[in-house]
Order: sequence, then structure tokens, then C-alpha cells
Amino acid sequence: MALAARCLADHLNADTSDAAGPWLPCSRCGGPARYAGRHAKTFTTALGDLTLTRAYYHCAACDHGGCPRDRALGVDGGSLSPAVTRMVGTAAALVSFAEGSALLGDLAGVAVEAKQVERTAEALGRAIAADEQREVVPAAAAEIAPTLYLGLDGTGVPMRKAEVAGRAGKQADGSAKTREVKLCTVWSAEGRDADGGPVRDAGSVSYSAAIESAATRDTAVTGSAFAQRVEREATRRGFDRARRHAVLGDGAPWIWNLAGEAFPAALQIVDRFHAKAHLSDVAKVLYGAPSDLGDAWAKARHAELDAGQLHQIVAALTAQYRTRRDPAKREEIRKCIGYLWVNRRRMRYPAFRAAGLCTSTAVVEAGCKVAIGTRLKRAGMHWSVRGANAIIALRCCKLSGRFEDFWERRAQRCVTA
Ligand SMILES: [Zn+2]
Repeated sequence: MALAARCLADHLNADTSDAAGPWLPCSRCGGPARYAGRHAKTFTTALGDLTLTRAYYHCAACDHGGCPRDRALGVDGGSLSPAVTRMVGTAAALVSFAEGSALLGDLAGVAVEAKQVERTAEALGRAIAADEQREVVPAAAAEIAPTLYLGLDGTGVPMRKAEVAGRAGKQADGSAKTREVKLCTVWSAEGRDADGGPVRDAGSVSYSAAIESAATRDTAVTGSAFAQRVEREATRRGFDRARRHAVLGDGAPWIWNLAGEAFPAALQIVDRFHAKAHLSDVAKVLYGAPSDLGDAWAKARHAELDAGQLHQIVAALTAQYRTRRDPAKREEIRKCIGYLWVNRRRMRYPAFRAAGLCTSTAVVEAGCKVAIGTRLKRAGMHWSVRGANAIIALRCCKLSGRFEDFWERRAQRCVTA
């Protein structure tokens, strides 16, 4: 590797064709930039450190200097080669910046400090986020599965103090420690298990997420930032062009507002997993946790939910309401009955199952864990919105199998620039 690095450096340094005369147009202002000799700089590459001497041009008008060769090699403004930048992106998408730095050293013999992993990965994530907004190529009709699912979910990510100052939250004193990441997942489930139930198709899941608002003012012409994100992802996947398409989510009102606005023809299904978790939470409030009585009560309600017997669940809740005196418990029961009432048409599980539809978003739930939790919610982590969104973009791009496409477009832009 060291030998290859030396050969490559010798080869590049012997080629002085990047000195293209005494003047070149400034890359920033377009004015004349004067040739100011060859400058040496050490770059971190997959082969090890590489010291290159490159023609340097300086523009007096805007005091900007640069090397045309750096732009051609794709190392403009940094000291990492594109291959190392890509490795940093892969590592930082999976593990913490410090672990990423250690991995790069162990696996590739490349020394990149944790702080530089962070800076590089965040810059890359921002470039990916911008690319995601720009590149919305509708799915080809032939690629669209007969039934597509779109899952919406939210999950809290721990924030730095300054990022949540003055925001209302769930802490005892009314303050917030987290911000909500909103996630959109699209998948197909044409496969069937032994019982004929739908099975998610391997490799069909794509993710798009960010800390951004899903609330739209009535007067707004365009949807909220998150609604626009969901529409971009739906377009890329051909979600609303699928013969059958269903939105899955928990009972949160923002999800159904968004789904109704953006996809009026879509089926709406409350994720069975979430509905059950909701009933289990009620059992915990009623019986205290953990308790055998509470578990048995929740289990019976889960079975009724699977059987589509919502009225039985309401009857059980009503019976509880009559015997309980604690206002907090009564309030919880009232809220749960309201939840079942509002979402009743989205909980017709026997009918959905008969139609061969997914009713549980193990996928979405796993999505929040896979895409967000395992990377952003680890012990001791505190994020800025800017940093979190960059890493979320990077991670969603990787997990959706779009990293390769991103690098191809980036290389293309380097060539045409
Ligand atoms: Zn200039």
C-alpha cells in the first residue's frame, strides 16, 4: 500500500499540466486568478497519506485561492480522498464517530480522528439531504409492486440543551429533552408465509426521515416540510400509482391528517403493533406495572383487537370505568375509548387480513429502531438538529440502498463542474 501510494504520488507530482498558464478564471468570482507556484498538501487516501504538489492560483479580487487539480480529484476543500470520505460515511452511518474512527484504523489502516469523522460525515449527510430534495425520479411502472405500504412514525431523539431551550416537552417541569424525528417508510409484501400472511419483500424497504414539522397552516400553499418529504418518497416509489396502497401508522392525528391530504385514495390502517402497545399501556395504568392481572387484561384485549371485536374492548373499558375512582385512571380509560372510536375504521383487522394486507408494521416500528434508534439514541448521545438531520439523511440513504447512486451523481457533478 505504501509503495502504491508513493507510485501514485510520484505519478501525479510529475504531471504538471494542472498549471494551465499564468491566469485562470477564479472558481469563486470568475475574475482573473494568478498562478502562484506549486503548493504541497498531504491527503488521507485509502492507500495511506499522499503528499501532492499542485498548481495554486490566487484571485486578488476576492482573495480566494485554490488548486484546479483538487477539484478534478474530488478533494476540493478537504484533505480526505473520495474513497476515504465514502468509508467515513459508511462507518459514521453505522456507529458513533469515535467508533468509526477506530474502525477505519483497524479495517483500512486509515487514520482519521473522531472529530474529522464527525465533520466529514455531517458534510456528507448535508450533501445527501440536498441531493434527496433534488433527485425525485418517479418509479418506472414496471417496478411498482401491486400493493405498496407507506408507514409513518415518530421517535424522540435526545438533544443538546440549547436545542430544546424554551420548547415544551414531556419532562416533569414541562421542558423537553428530545425532538421528534419523523420517519416515512415504503415497502412491499408480495411474499406469503406458510399461513398465507403477507411477508415483507427483502430489499423493498426505503426510508426517509428528518427532524422537521408535519404541521401545515390552513393558509399554506405547500405542505409541511415533512409532508413534502413523504410526497417525494412516494413519488420515487410510485406509492400512489400502485393498484392497492395503504398508509400504516399509530393513532397520532398528524399521521392521518397528512395521509388524508396527500393520498386520499389510500387505505388507512392503524398498525396492530401500536394498537396493542396502546392497550398494554392502559393495562399498566390500571393495574400498575408489572402485574399478572394487567398482563391478562391486556392479552384478552389484544385477542379482541385481532378478532375485530372493538365493541368488546369498549365494554371492558366501560366496566373498568365504573369501578375506578382515581381521576388519572378514569381519564386514561376515556382517552382509550376515544382512540378506538376515532380509529375504528382503521382497525378492521379481520377484513384487512382477508384481503391479504399487512396490518402490523413490524417494518415501521423496526424502521424507527433501525433507521434512528440504533444510531441516534445511544447512551450519552446528545444532538444538534443540524447534526442529527445530516446523520439521519446519511443513514436513510445507506439503508435504502441509495448510497451508490448518490456517489455516481456526485462524481458526475465533479466532471461537469
Ligand atoms: Zn475571485
